[in-house]
Amino acid sequence: MERSEYLERIKSRMPEKRFIHTIGVMETAIQLAEKYGADMKAAETAAILHDVAKYADEEWMKTIVKEHGLDPRLLDWGPEILHGPVGAWIAENEFQIDNEDILNAIRYHTTGRANMSTLEKIIYIADMIEPNRKFDGVEKLRAKAQEDLDKAMRACIRHSLAFLVETKQPIYPVSIECYNDYYK
Ligand code: GDP
Ligand code: FE
Ligand code: FE
Ligand code: FE
Repeated sequence: MERSEYLERIKSRMPEKRFIHTIGVMETAIQLAEKYGADMKAAETAAILHDVAKYADEEWMKTIVKEHGLDPRLLDWGPEILHGPVGAWIAENEFQIDNEDILNAIRYHTTGRANMSTLEKIIYIADMIEPNRKFDGVEKLRAKAQEDLDKAMRACIRHSLAFLVETKQPIYPVSIECYNDYYK
């Protein structure tokens, strides 16, 4: 499918602000894919679809988890954790994506995981550093992303978990597995 066709199909599923974020992730992911020798078209597709489930109904997402055998631990978590795995399900079933690397990049874009592929790292990092993101330390993460993909991933997962601890939020086990993969 063409880029414009994907963009048209996701636009109606999210507010303007999220669509602009998605374009930012797409442009960042394509640049990182070129730099680190990943499939640029796969990066484009994964980026466009990464937040496709961001505004899906929580109960509907839990129904998908139950009926289609997604990780049952997801049932104890809210939309922030559900939208990655359910987004991958939508990409596979509504957008006919059959590239498992693209599906995993969407599935793990919020939490990361242990043993991430290059594409998974690119989408995780692009989601965090795209030009519309504004938080203390984002410039450092942007600079790291141009130096070394693993160093950037290490800094990004540390930043994410530090934020969750600081704001007293529970941490999904898969996020911890990702952190341990970089710090053990
Ligand atoms: P977005 O969809 O583009 O806003 O970005 P993400 O999908 O990366 O993250 C969505 C939200 O999930 C953010 O507010 C993160 O802080 C949050 N998040 C990421 N990992 C975890 C986790 O392990 N536990 C919890 N509770 N929230 C998380
Ligand atoms: Fe997301
Ligand atoms: Fe993210
Ligand atoms: Fe996002």
